[in-house]
Amino acid sequence: MIDYKSVKARHSLVEVVESAGVQLRREGRRLVASCPFHQGDRTPSFTVYPETQTFYCFGCEVWGDVVDFLKRMRNCSSEEAVAFLEGPQARVAIVPKASPPPKAAMPELGEHDQAVLQKAIALYHLNLRDNRSALEYLRQRGLTLETIFAERLGYCGNPGTLAKTLGIRERRIAQEIGLLNEKGRERMWRRLTFPIYRKGKPVWLIGRTLENGNWVRYLGLTIPKPPMGLDSLSLGNEAWVVEGVFDLLLLRQLARELNRRIPAVALLGTHPTAEMVEVLKQKTRVFLCLDGDPPGRKAAEELRRELGKRTIVVPLPERSKDIGELLPDEVKDLVLRAYLPRRIQSNKGGRPVATLREANKEVV
Ligand code: ZN
Repeated sequence: MIDYKSVKARHSLVEVVESAGVQLRREGRRLVASCPFHQGDRTPSFTVYPETQTFYCFGCEVWGDVVDFLKRMRNCSSEEAVAFLEGPQARVAIVPKASPPPKAAMPELGEHDQAVLQKAIALYHLNLRDNRSALEYLRQRGLTLETIFAERLGYCGNPGTLAKTLGIRERRIAQEIGLLNEKGRERMWRRLTFPIYRKGKPVWLIGRTLENGNWVRYLGLTIPKPPMGLDSLSLGNEAWVVEGVFDLLLLRQLARELNRRIPAVALLGTHPTAEMVEVLKQKTRVFLCLDGDPPGRKAAEELRRELGKRTIVVPLPERSKDIGELLPDEVKDLVLRAYLPRRIQSNKGGRPVATLREANKEVV
């Protein structure tokens, strides 16, 4: 197993990016460049965050750390990327299997950033109660009021309110992390909001528009995007991997309903980072339930290659694109069915687990 933490500590992402021929320009706390991973990027969308040693492209949505950057740039495996960085001393980076698994390095917000983000989450959560169409939309997507409260979902409905509740310093932070634009308007205006927490602290916010048209459907903060739900993988031998926020919320809702753990992480895209793959490699079983479209299938294939035999691809019913499109009862069937074969196998000599109701009791 590779000790990514020490590899990253030894190599500055900025230096590696620049030596790959990407010309970075400083913009406040971050550096930007035309993206080396997608064509015709004039904005420029490729952003490096020296504080967290991570990058993110607002155009093609690739993101990660120094190892992910090299993997993409050189089209190679994690091991080859590390060997490229460490040269002949590559072995220094290899740690014995008995060592504890590496902690997933998340982009970390400072205490003040988190406090501002928490204020926005609380405000949008209150706003949601007054917005019937937003509540109705969530209900149609199968989410219960309990989930809305438990997940602190919100809606950004009243322009200018957030800026009014913040002091001058907080307003500057809100602009830096992307809650407010340069004019002090909410970035999430007329969007449902979905917070991401790590160890109980808010680290990101997703905004989904309710309107059709030329709007970007999902918008995030202007800081690197973390996967959602990684905390839940710290215990147990199993993991579910899904793509979108609704996929994950429906799984968590089911877990609450069954009063069981269903450790699950949402990629919020189709690009797992090297560190996330390392976390998944610690598991004995990884249930993959990614979207049925070509990028989703490609991501599933890539993950299956990396994770090997522990991977179980969970098929979606034919008519649906992702878990998020299913009704809560269909999600339940899908999850319980995924657990069924294992239970039948491990039930040698005993009566096979035959019904979903019985499987329900067996879910770990
Ligand atoms: Zn890009």
